[in-house]
This record gives sequence, structure tokens and C-alpha cells, in this order.
Amino acid sequence: MRRAMAEAEVGDDVYGEDPTVKRLEAELAELFGFEAALFFPSGTMANQTALLLLAPRASEVLAPEGAHVFEFELAAPAMLSGVLVRSLPAPSGRPEPEAVAAAVHASVHQAPTAMLWLENTHNLAGGTVLDRDLTDRLLSVAREKGLKAHLDGARIWNAAVALSEKPATLARGFDTVMVSLSKGLGAPVGSALLTPRALSAEARRYRKVLGGGMRQAGVLAAAARVALWNWEETLARDHALARELAEGLKRLGLEVDPPPETNMVYLRANDAPRFCQRLEQAGVRALPLGGERVRFVTHRDLPEDAARLALARIAQVL
Ligand SMILES: *Cc1c(COP(=O)(O)O)cnc(C)c1O
Repeated sequence: MRRAMAEAEVGDDVYGEDPTVKRLEAELAELFGFEAALFFPSGTMANQTALLLLAPRASEVLAPEGAHVFEFELAAPAMLSGVLVRSLPAPSGRPEPEAVAAAVHASVHQAPTAMLWLENTHNLAGGTVLDRDLTDRLLSVAREKGLKAHLDGARIWNAAVALSEKPATLARGFDTVMVSLSKGLGAPVGSALLTPRALSAEARRYRKVLGGGMRQAGVLAAAARVALWNWEETLARDHALARELAEGLKRLGLEVDPPPETNMVYLRANDAPRFCQRLEQAGVRALPLGGERVRFVTHRDLPEDAARLALARIAQVL
């Protein structure tokens, strides 16, 4: 990646003249079956652009409980688009189509519902996947109710590997899809927003409004293109490591969430921040989420025997 960055052919992307960015965008559009892809510095900015494109001011967006847009984007939907995000009950990150239908507002006393927002994989629910069948049923309710639909696919790559589906299959039917190159794929920077041709100029304009017009961005796109070489094998290995880690943690007597569907392992601990601090001292980094949840993520920079090594160190801490 570092070499590809150093050797990248570049131009000024604000003028649409960076050949490496254009190549990446064309590759992503093709991979996801969309007419256009736009490279962004972050997933948050691309998600917020989707809201600006699809949800009118003072409308409401339905998203599964725990969605990144709701929990981790710092009220940006209120600040930038002037919309309300309302959360849908979503056991394991998967809302029921009936819950979507029931949540849609159509009275003069309530904010008009403009949009359905889904997340695949769902981070806080445990890296859980939405399969094509459930996605179809959710989208069909959205269309019946006249809603736009966006997919936060920061980790759609993991879902594709877990379900043995093509990325385009999981992205089909949404107005816009955000995908991250900087999560499991391991690029240092970058996400993309997939859109129909009719929205691409507007998406580019909003990206500039938000401060995301980048000049010789080809150095970043070059790293992202390397991340696309062998993502399927890389993520399949991450998933296998996560399963091995989860099984081992269970054997150690820890309260582990249901078996990981992708590359995340969540467990309960009495004092999560303190537990993570002690793990870190032993050489294992994990993230405390609130007081009682701990998240482990497997990734491409880990050695083959990472699960075994981590389990040995965790056993010592226990
Ligand atoms: C990380 C993440 C984002 C945002 O990506 P950034 O590049 O960190 O802004 C959006 N959605 C989900 C589900 C994520 O995990």
C-alpha cells in the first residue's frame, strides 16, 4: 500500500482530474452494480451526504437501534440535514419488515417519514449480517410506503464474505450505499458513496460543501485499490479467527455473545474499561463499549496464530 501510494499517478480531483481516484471510483461502481461511485475521506461524511441527498429538512429517517448514524455521528443528521433519526427495534441488528411498516408516520402531527436506513454488517449488534431475503422484504415495505433507502455498508464486504454473496447482490435496490475502504479492508483513509448517475453531481457538490473536496487524492485512492486485491480471502481469515477467539473465550468462562457472524467478538464484563486496560497491559487490545461490553475485532494485520496468542494472554489476565 505504501509503495502504491508513493507511485500513484495523481491530478486535481476537485477538477475531476485525478486518474487514480477515477479508476477506484469506476472499480467500485462496477463491483457494486451502481452507475456512479464517489470517493470520500470518511464514512461519516459519505453517510451524511446520503442524508442530504435523500431526506428533506424536518423529515424523519428510520434506522435500526444502535445504528452508527444514530450512535456515532454526533447528531450530524440534526446539524447538517435537519432531520430526525428514529430507531427501530432491531434484534441482532435486523429490523422486522412489520416494524418498519408500523413506524412510518402519515399524520399532520408527526414528522413525515422520508427514508429507511439499514446497516450491513451491524456493528453494535455484533457485526451481524442482513441477508438478501430480509433486505428484499425491508426494501419492499420501504417502496410501498414511498421511502428512500440507504445502506450503511461500512462493512458490506464482511457481509458478502459471510453470506457468500457478491457485493452487488447485497447493494441492489438501495438509492445509495456507503462502503468503507478503511475498516476491514485496511486502507488508511477512505469510503465511497454509490449513487445513480442522476445524483452524482449533487453528491459531489455536497461533498465539497462538507469540506471533502480533496486535491491530489490519488495517493489515498491508490492505497484503497490495493485493499481491493484480495479482500475476500483476507476477510474470510478474519472471520475464522473471530470464531476461534469466541470459542476460546467461552472455554475461559467468559460471557460471550452468540457466535460471531463476521469479524467481531462481543462479550460482557463487570467493569469493561478496567478489563480492557488489563488486557492491553498483557498485549491484547479490545474496546470497552459502555461499562459492561467489550469488543474484539480481528483484522488483516494479525498473525496466523493471533487467536491462540490472544487467548493465552487473556487467560493470564483472568
Ligand atoms: C466506521 C463506521 C462508519 C463511519 O466511518 P468513518 O470513516 O469512521 O467516518 C459508518 N458506519 C459504520 C457502521 C461504521 O462502522
